[in-house]
Amino acid sequence: MIPWRQVQRQNFTCWKKLSEFLQLDSVYYPEILKDSRFPLNLPFRLAQKIQKNRWDDPILLQFLPVEKENEVVFGFQADPVGDLQARQSSKLLKKYHGRALLVCTSSCAMNCRFCFRQNYDYETQDKNFAEEIELIRQDPTLTEIILSGGDPLSLSNETLSSLIKRLDVIPHLERLRFHTRFPIGIPERIDEEFLLLLKEIRLQVFFVIHTNHASELDAQVVTGLKKIQKLGIPVLNQTVLLRGVNDNLSTLKELCEKLASHGILPYYLHQLDRVQGAAHFEVPEEEGRILVAQLTEVMSGYAVPKYVKEEAGEPSKTGLLERSLSLCT
Ligand code: SF4
Repeated sequence: MIPWRQVQRQNFTCWKKLSEFLQLDSVYYPEILKDSRFPLNLPFRLAQKIQKNRWDDPILLQFLPVEKENEVVFGFQADPVGDLQARQSSKLLKKYHGRALLVCTSSCAMNCRFCFRQNYDYETQDKNFAEEIELIRQDPTLTEIILSGGDPLSLSNETLSSLIKRLDVIPHLERLRFHTRFPIGIPERIDEEFLLLLKEIRLQVFFVIHTNHASELDAQVVTGLKKIQKLGIPVLNQTVLLRGVNDNLSTLKELCEKLASHGILPYYLHQLDRVQGAAHFEVPEEEGRILVAQLTEVMSGYAVPKYVKEEAGEPSKTGLLERSLSLCT
């Protein structure tokens, strides 16, 4: 297998090269945002899944910077989920009871245009996490740590191993969760060294991936995830409801069925976090509720994700179906 760092170097980071590769008609060029501070970053593997000269391709829409991102839309802000107010240190966020989230890195295998953390003020120098480990050690209410970012799988196996081994010996911790989209673009990341690291952890691991469209899950991606499942680690999925990408019943159904058929639990369907520049992706909540109700009619209960929204300052995610019921009573 080619080392994942080598695969990552093939990512598209130049809009011109990507446009040529996709044979995009130059009529679209004025609509491309050429100098975004959140740059284009698209794995070659995902680019290969985009139909040639199809501006509205559901993969392309997720990754190509477009001029629309510069529109100022009321209600869309830099920090839509209240990360700043939840900061315990530059890398540790505590929002919910019993859990804390480590913003391990600013890097990702890909830059999703709707990412709610695209404006996050990442601390990128310190890879030791000494302050965060100490804060976690001193807080016995914590039972679960979420490795997030950026993408935790952007870290080398060596850095991950050093971090995880120190978490593993903190007695009050019971679970470790990965939030990652890395294997969707670069499945080579699930290498032997990483699997060995997972095998040796005392903590119960949960592996939460992020896919938005069935075409993101191909045979090689699924094979990589299977290796994790074979270690007894549950693999779950989060999806963001996105205009033009997955805002219809057949696309969501195909995605959830594919996930379920590979033993990956469709965990959450997220309402878009209202981050600056992403307004064109928003699907109204009412439309989302109808879609999830339709999904419920045609799929097994375990294959229907919970439709949720993250609201700054709230003690948990808000269930949007539950909210609609309580508004009716
Ligand atoms: S992979 Fe996740 S963290 Fe990285 S840009 Fe996409 S949504 Fe954001």
